[in-house]
Amino acid sequence: MAGIRLESVTKRFGNTVALDRVSLNISDGEIFTLLGPSGCGKTTTLRVIAGFETPDEGRVYIGSRDVTMLKPYERNTAMVFQNYALWPHMRVFDNIAYGLKLRKLPRSEIVRRVRWAAELLEIDHLLDRYPHQLSGGQQQRVAVARAIVTEPEVLLMDEPLSNLDAHLRLKMREEIVRLQKRLGVTIVYVTHDQEEALSISHRVAVMNRGRVEQVGTPMEVYEKP
Ligand code: ADP
Ligand code: ADP
Repeated sequence: MAGIRLESVTKRFGNTVALDRVSLNISDGEIFTLLGPSGCGKTTTLRVIAGFETPDEGRVYIGSRDVTMLKPYERNTAMVFQNYALWPHMRVFDNIAYGLKLRKLPRSEIVRRVRWAAELLEIDHLLDRYPHQLSGGQQQRVAVARAIVTEPEVLLMDEPLSNLDAHLRLKMREEIVRLQKRLGVTIVYVTHDQEEALSISHRVAVMNRGRVEQVGTPMEVYEKP
């Protein structure tokens, strides 16, 4: 478990200022949501925390560690992408196991951890299938299992529910809350859906044009729209 701190992070792409002096203090074990319209900088913020982008200015801390210049694999973070990004040629088991194989864990430990994550996401009966043999909701669960199997301190979720139908979206919201409690992991969650943000988050940051305009509990943000 670890909190996250962004100190005046600026990120530019050519002439576009994607992040303009963004500062955030995310607590250990929090579900913290970045809310705002398309293009406001939510994904870039996640990618800066994950280490897929390096800030032009400012610092990023995970726990007490300055990770600003560290590679993604040197941080204890994991990301769930909007389109799940599963490997189509790998069975579910191997998709989930991928990060553990990279870390060269013993086979028995890999099997144990994959089973643990698959049971938690209720997909243990799907381990032999390929991604194209799964529903969208099942693929989403595989993506989450693959992210948590390495026991990250920080789980980054980029619009993870936007490709699901309304019923599944509601169910998965509850599951994400349950997962956070169970694992104690810090979750940074991205959505443009205000209702979703308010229903699952401990706190919400409202972003607009690369800036953080407001941070507060759902009640605080809801009362001052
Ligand atoms: P959001 O996730 O809120 O939709 P993004 O963080 O994806 O916003 O994008 C913020 C801004 O930065 C947008 O104007 C987007 O077009 C731009 N941007 C993001 N990534 C890149 C990139 N790799 N190259 C150029 N522009 C980018
Ligand atoms: P979202 O709106 O969900 O953030 P986007 O479709 O805007 O997703 O962006 C998807 C990916 O493309 C992101 O990784 C982002 O960094 C990159 N991207 C966004 N805008 C641009 C752009 N103008 N040029 C190049 N890459 C971009």
